[in-house]
Amino acid sequence: MIQFKQAGICVFQSALYQTTSTVIDTPDLVLVVDPNWLPHEVQEIVCYVDSIKGTRPVYLLFTHSDYDHIIGWKAFPDAITIASEAFVQNPAKDKEVEQIISFDDKHYIKRNYPIEYPDIQIVIRQDEDFLSFEHTRIRFWLAPGHNADGLFALLEPYGVWIAGDYLSDVEFPFIYHSLEDYQMTLEKASNIAGKARPKVLVPGHGQICQNIPEMGKRIIFSQQYLQAILRHAKGEEVFDETALLVQYDFPKGLRSIHQDNLNLIIKSISKS
Ligand SMILES: [Zn+2]
Repeated sequence: MIQFKQAGICVFQSALYQTTSTVIDTPDLVLVVDPNWLPHEVQEIVCYVDSIKGTRPVYLLFTHSDYDHIIGWKAFPDAITIASEAFVQNPAKDKEVEQIISFDDKHYIKRNYPIEYPDIQIVIRQDEDFLSFEHTRIRFWLAPGHNADGLFALLEPYGVWIAGDYLSDVEFPFIYHSLEDYQMTLEKASNIAGKARPKVLVPGHGQICQNIPEMGKRIIFSQQYLQAILRHAKGEEVFDETALLVQYDFPKGLRSIHQDNLNLIIKSISKS
């Protein structure tokens, strides 16, 4: 379904985990981000892109390599792909593909395109790398922390900030990779919100956000969550898990992720 649409931007939302897929069209190009999850949902995005693209090239951006975000790659076989260098160097490509195959197998899902780990044509290597077109510029920042290969993208002059699996309103930070990296990525988020003043923030899961104070709140919430869970892991303070989970519509699934976050942090403290 379509969660949000206005001139030049259409945000699709999957029935699963409220995962977003974004399509942005500018005079130069059509940019598709993380097309996902179910076959008919991916097909809806393919049809939409076909209906608007005309003669413009289609670019396909992957915000990170978690399997739900790469599941629709081959539905856009002619698109020019973009992702971070760490995405290209992901040592567990097979694992991501295996997760897609297991998911489809478990749910008896057939797709009319092959499942493969994306080949990337445009590799983003550092913060402030950008792609420039006559009317469009796409700026990038490396955004590790949630996983190792995240990427923020800001479409200028449209002010659309694609955040990947950060700054969601339906889940707290999921730390699959590194607390420190996550904190640094939130610093970058804070700079982007403060300096570039985006008009629309699109998280990987949940609702878009159209105002800076709300973006700021999401950033601060994430920072406070990370600080609180770190203090808890160090034994300095007790984390109020009930108060955290009561804020969410889907607390059952989130409880174990919070526990995983805590385990990851305890492990990293014991190593240092
Ligand atoms: Zn995700």
